[in-house]
Amino acid sequence: MQCSACRREAIVFQPYSGKHLCPVHFTRDLEAKAKRTIRTHGWLRPGDTIAVMLEGDAASAGLLFFLFGLIRNRRDIRLCAITVDPGISGSPVAERARAIAEGHGIPWFTGSLAERYGITLDRLIQDEGQDAAARACRVLTTDLLSEIAESHGVTRCAIATSVDEIAEGFFSDLLTGTPEQTIFSRKSVGRSGIPVIRPFIEIPAAELERYGQLHVPGNFLPAAPCTGTSGFARDANEALNTYNSRHPAARFALANLAGTLSGIASDHPSTCPACGELQSAGGCPACAIREKYRRGTA
Ligand SMILES: [Zn+2]
Ligand SMILES: [Zn+2]
Repeated sequence: MQCSACRREAIVFQPYSGKHLCPVHFTRDLEAKAKRTIRTHGWLRPGDTIAVMLEGDAASAGLLFFLFGLIRNRRDIRLCAITVDPGISGSPVAERARAIAEGHGIPWFTGSLAERYGITLDRLIQDEGQDAAARACRVLTTDLLSEIAESHGVTRCAIATSVDEIAEGFFSDLLTGTPEQTIFSRKSVGRSGIPVIRPFIEIPAAELERYGQLHVPGNFLPAAPCTGTSGFARDANEALNTYNSRHPAARFALANLAGTLSGIASDHPSTCPACGELQSAGGCPACAIREKYRRGTA
C-alpha cells in the first residue's frame, strides 16, 4: 500500500484517520501529536531535568528517542533515564534499558525491587496471584522510581503511556463503578511530588511499538510487566476492542473524556494524607502495600 502523503511504501495504517503512512510521514505525524500534547500541557520548561522511565520495551525506548531529538539543541533542559527492574526471570530489563540509554549517550540510573524490597515480581505472582502482584508491583516500582528521581534532581518523570492504556483503564473503571480511580489519579510521584508527563497519551499502543522499532536498534521486551489479568479488566478490554473495531475513534473519545474530567476535578475528599493516592473505605491500598513490604523502615 502506498503512503497517503507520498509515493513511498506505507508501514502503518491508521483506522481512525483512514491514512496509510510511510516511515517518514508516520514519524512526522506521531511527533507532531506528541509535541502538541507537550505544548498543551506545558510539560517542558527551561531548567527541567527529565527522566524517562525506561523499561526495555519499544514504547519507552521510543519516548527516549523522541525526547532526545526534541531537546537535542536545548542547553536549558537535561535528559536522563531511570529503570526499575521488577525481577522477571528471563527478562533482562536492566541490561536492555542500559543499552538503549547508552545508545543515546545519556545518564542512566537503575534500581530493582529485589535490592530495595527483597522481592521480585516473579515471587509476588507466586505468592499473591497475578492481580495483587500487579498492584503491589505498580506501587513499589513507582516509589522506587521516585526515590531515584529525587536523588538525582529530576523535575519531571516521562512515561510512555498510550491512548489505549488511558481509555482501557477508564472504561474498566466506569464498568466497575470506580471512575474516581481515573478522574482523581495522582499526576505526580514521590514524597516531593515530581510531576509525571505522558507525551504519548494521544498515540495508540500499536503505533508506539512501531515507532520504537523504527528508530531504536535491537530487540525489545514486552511492555507493562506490572499488569493484572482480572476478569473485569479483561472483559472490559474485549468489549472495547469489539466496539473500537467498528468505531476506531472510541479510544480517543474515552481518553479525552478521562482527561477533561480529571482536569476539572478538584481534590478528592478521601485522598490519603500520607501519599496522595485515593483511599477506599478500608484505608489507603497503596500505603497498605508499602507497609507490607516495609518501605518506611529501609
Ligand atoms: Zn510518505
Ligand atoms: Zn497512602
